[in-house]
Amino acid sequence: MINLEEFKNKLLKEREEILLLLENLETQKEELKEEPTYETSDYANIYEFREEIHLQEESLRKRLTLIDKALKKFEEGKYSICENCGKEIEEIRLNLDPATPYCRSCASKFLV
Ligand SMILES: [Zn+2]
Repeated sequence: MINLEEFKNKLLKEREEILLLLENLETQKEELKEEPTYETSDYANIYEFREEIHLQEESLRKRLTLIDKALKKFEEGKYSICENCGKEIEEIRLNLDPATPYCRSCASKFLV
């Protein structure tokens, strides 16, 4: 029997970390807004930096959605059940990523 509580704690911890990272990105964005005195030669860098923040934000939000989905499954008593085939997800997969919604064989079908 898998110790589900452990995975739940992992998910909650990661969720908090992500929220902190998102807050940091938000602060960085504000700082960029407040400093309009950059040299022209820095402009490309600022642009790239903004892009980078945006991409980071996007991937963090995606991850957050996945984590929230997994946490919701605890309430529904569906955690560790594959979303596709309804079988139990292998413990080794949950160890690697407690937010994974699929078992090994389904994940391999989707990851083309
Ligand atoms: Zn499956």
